[in-house]
Amino acid sequence: MFRGMKVVALEEHYWDAELIERTKDRALSRDGEMRRQLQDFDTVRVEHMDRAGIDYQVLSHAAPSGQYVFGADAPDLLRRVNDRLAEGVARRPDRLGAFAALPTADPQAAAKELERCVTQLGMKGAMIHGPTGEKFIDGQEFWPIFATAEQLDVPIYLHPATPLRSVVDAYYKDYMKAFPTVISAGWGFTVETATTAIRLILSGMFGKYPKTKIVLGHFGESIPFLLWRIDQALSRPGQEGVKFRETFCNNFWLTSSGNFSTPGLLCCAQEMGMDKLMFSVDWPYVANEDGMDWIGTLQMNESDLRKFLGGNAARLLKL
Ligand code: MN
Repeated sequence: MFRGMKVVALEEHYWDAELIERTKDRALSRDGEMRRQLQDFDTVRVEHMDRAGIDYQVLSHAAPSGQYVFGADAPDLLRRVNDRLAEGVARRPDRLGAFAALPTADPQAAAKELERCVTQLGMKGAMIHGPTGEKFIDGQEFWPIFATAEQLDVPIYLHPATPLRSVVDAYYKDYMKAFPTVISAGWGFTVETATTAIRLILSGMFGKYPKTKIVLGHFGESIPFLLWRIDQALSRPGQEGVKFRETFCNNFWLTSSGNFSTPGLLCCAQEMGMDKLMFSVDWPYVANEDGMDWIGTLQMNESDLRKFLGGNAARLLKL
């Protein structure tokens, strides 16, 4: 609790041993204490939550999750992963919820798994981590996933993953040795995920499924700062097909995961209003205390703070 307000965080990660083994050449390797934290559901995790004052976490698998599982056994593997996640969070239903991992290489199976996870396992939506192979998620073959999410009225959280090999070679390889995070939180994650969101709007998916709800972390992967420019450019004569600003402001929710910037928060609030912004941490990659220490510095009225810390998340996720 923070000043009597319930604190919810919804980009909080864990590892499933079988899924990590299957995706190990693309998952960022983690050893020691962080590995222990990632593999824990309700012991170290809840201790860390208690220490910082976080009441509820929505757990999601870390990247690349189900987006790097190919082959006929993918749907079965992800079912096992989601069953184990549901069991893990069921040990502390007062403190933990879950986002499903989906076998997006088989979009029909992914849509079915989303439905199963929400209707049978009580999950709050799903998280998708970057492209599936080289395919971005806006392709029409993936739309059954969004159709199902819209029908179930649950959000899809678009999360970063390591950029495509061709992007790494073209953009980052000169600086990767000295600055390994340039491909991840330093910049690469942002570009990949913003591109995914922009492509999803350009695809026309929201025209067909207008109530689809999308969550972006890291205060919107830079899009709020550029919203005026993107919207102006994409509505020049001859390309009036999508209303970029309207879609972004209506269909997207943003979290503060790994980006505890007050100017960033103010930019998002001015562009989207306080009903679309939600606190998150990105534990264990980011410390809960860093997030809560930042919350303590915010000069925000009680009603907006209540929305930001947990009220908006409770409405979106029906907690
Ligand atoms: Mn994350």
